[in-house]
Amino acid sequence: MAEIFVLVEHRQGKIRDITFEMLEAGEKLASQQGASSTAVLLGHNVKSFAEELATRASKVLVVEDAQLQHFNSSLYQKVLSSLITKYQPLLTLIGHTAFGMDLAPSLSVEMGFPLVTDCIGLSFEESRLKAVRSVYGGKVNANISTRESKGYLATLRPGLYSPGAPEGKKGGIVMESSPLQEKIDIKKFIEYIEAPLTGEDITQAEIIVSVGQGIGGPEPIPMFEEVARSLGGVLACSRPVVDRNWLPKERQVGISGKTVKPKIYIAIGISGAFQHVTAMQGSDTIIAINKDPRAPIFGVADYGIVDDFQNVIPILKEKAKGMK
Ligand SMILES: Cc1cc2nc3c(=O)[nH]c(=O)nc-3n(C[C@H](O)[C@H](O)[C@H](O)COP(=O)(O)OP(=O)(O)OC[C@H]3O[C@@H](n4cnc5c(N)ncnc54)[C@H](O)[C@@H]3O)c2cc1C
Repeated sequence: MAEIFVLVEHRQGKIRDITFEMLEAGEKLASQQGASSTAVLLGHNVKSFAEELATRASKVLVVEDAQLQHFNSSLYQKVLSSLITKYQPLLTLIGHTAFGMDLAPSLSVEMGFPLVTDCIGLSFEESRLKAVRSVYGGKVNANISTRESKGYLATLRPGLYSPGAPEGKKGGIVMESSPLQEKIDIKKFIEYIEAPLTGEDITQAEIIVSVGQGIGGPEPIPMFEEVARSLGGVLACSRPVVDRNWLPKERQVGISGKTVKPKIYIAIGISGAFQHVTAMQGSDTIIAINKDPRAPIFGVADYGIVDDFQNVIPILKEKAKGMK
């Protein structure tokens, strides 16, 4: 039976969410193709990960090697290419993360397989991989058709799938010996540094008021801080707000900032670029305030207000006072 490989991404003793999202996508594709999904786990002392993954994939393929303790694209490429050559999966799914972006292109060159990056949709037409990519800042979806090949590679955009609860044990665990015979040190893991937290932890907040470049400058920031506080929430922002030093980096929501899932996310003057939306679309309720009715943020918002924020905030402040 054909297999769909899902490369497990883990860091600091934790399997990253993108892995479960890819397993969800891999299972769906596998059932359409009469194939099965295989979680490919490379690491060191990862037995507990393998058991967790066996509740979500038809099979877990494990390569244990001390050199694989931390992600390293050179080592991962060597191991993956040998597994792909042996098992010949139809498709290998990799996360469209810093980790996947580092690995997938050179793996594609080595294997001679087509690679589609940053996919938001995947399907097969006959035996060819078809993919959907969102381009021009989310304004256009491009349908990609690949050439016929023995195998395909794709990187999946994070945040698209909400994996359900595990179903009890599904698949078996298969140990493979490591093909890393000698030490490879072209790239070396030195240290993992977590940015120090000096203020609020936005990932823990239940209510987030988030501001974007549309607020026009740093002047209204204290007012938004006050609105956020009066709603019992915290203030967050899009990346340009950090780039312009209006707020510190720890407040940034997005693929190069934090992922948040509050009960309420109020996006003010934020256009809704995928780099932002990916990291907040899991919020229970999204409210967007934007003066452009065609802003992509309205595509993910549960409630939208098309207006200048200056007209809306005084009303919000008034309502928030009533909540105290
Ligand atoms: C590798 C990479 C990583 C990135 N990582 C991130 C990330 O982690 N987080 C992130 O946010 N972005 C990230 N970005 C940037 C992202 O592509 C967008 O540029 C960014 O999200 C846009 O921010 P914005 O919505 O605040 O600004 P803009 O796109 O400029 O949008 C401003 C919005 O405000 C509205 N507006 C203007 N005036 C008003 C007003 N008076 N009242 C109401 N609405 C108004 C406008 O209609 C517009 O929609 C990344 C980009 C790259 C290439």
